[in-house]
Amino acid sequence: MALFPPLSSLFKEPLSTIPLLQFKSSSIFGCKENFGEIERTQFRILSSSKSSPGLILKASREGQGLTQGLRSDKLERIAETEKGNDVFDEMKRRFLTFKKHTYMENFDHYKNLSNRQAPKFTVVACADSRVCPSTILGFQPGEAFTVRNVANMVPPYESEPSETKAALEFSVNFLEVENILVIGHSCCGGIRALMTMPDEADSSSFIRSWVFVGKKAKLSTKAAASNLNFDQQCRHCEKESINNSLLNMLTYPWISEKVIKGKLSIHGGYYDFINCTFEKWTLQYEGSNLKEENGKFAVKNQSFWC
Ligand SMILES: [Zn+2]
Repeated sequence: MALFPPLSSLFKEPLSTIPLLQFKSSSIFGCKENFGEIERTQFRILSSSKSSPGLILKASREGQGLTQGLRSDKLERIAETEKGNDVFDEMKRRFLTFKKHTYMENFDHYKNLSNRQAPKFTVVACADSRVCPSTILGFQPGEAFTVRNVANMVPPYESEPSETKAALEFSVNFLEVENILVIGHSCCGGIRALMTMPDEADSSSFIRSWVFVGKKAKLSTKAAASNLNFDQQCRHCEKESINNSLLNMLTYPWISEKVIKGKLSIHGGYYDFINCTFEKWTLQYEGSNLKEENGKFAVKNQSFWC
């Protein structure tokens, strides 16, 4: 049994190696050749516009700036690329490989899944493209009912409707999962947004309105780690936010009832993709209350996978 991960354990990583998240154009487009992608997209619009007058108008307006200066030989090269290097060609290849080697070779399993699902886990993970829980933890189809959102947050019960709350209701009350696992991660852009935003929700930004769910984690981080530099504070807040989500889940009456009865366990997980480590812990109940030690909620079954 141990308390929430001690502060000292949060900073084992060489912080100097943590890249700052910056919204460069290359990261937005996810491609080194983002201008080439724009050009290909533009050419696709033009080539398919015969059947869509609306697209002709849109394409002709947008095209003046984007295609200006394209030589005919470049257009030909783009057309060839269009045929042989479409992103969906790779997607199609991967799907057919999955069908041949995974689906067909486990046909009975997938046939059963088409009738019903009975996952043992509900997973709340970040929408970040680098932290797919099925990839890093090996969840197979049917094993984890998963909802992903910015910064893997769970709002309190008394708050606006959200897809995360709907996913929890469905998986807990209808699928009757036995475990809920909230997974946070290193270099989380959502947590960085939380740490840099004003201390009030901002209705002009969906991101700010959403990450405001983690305001308690931010406040506790500022109180406990104000002497650390900003990157270290973000690292601290990434874990505090997981615990904040775990505690928020206990405000859902149908979750806390099952936790008290021992039918449901809620766990925190933290994936550090810089050092490729994973920490896991479980909230500890004693009777009908969360167990507390030294003013903090106690956890059990804490482990560190490296
Ligand atoms: Zn994230």
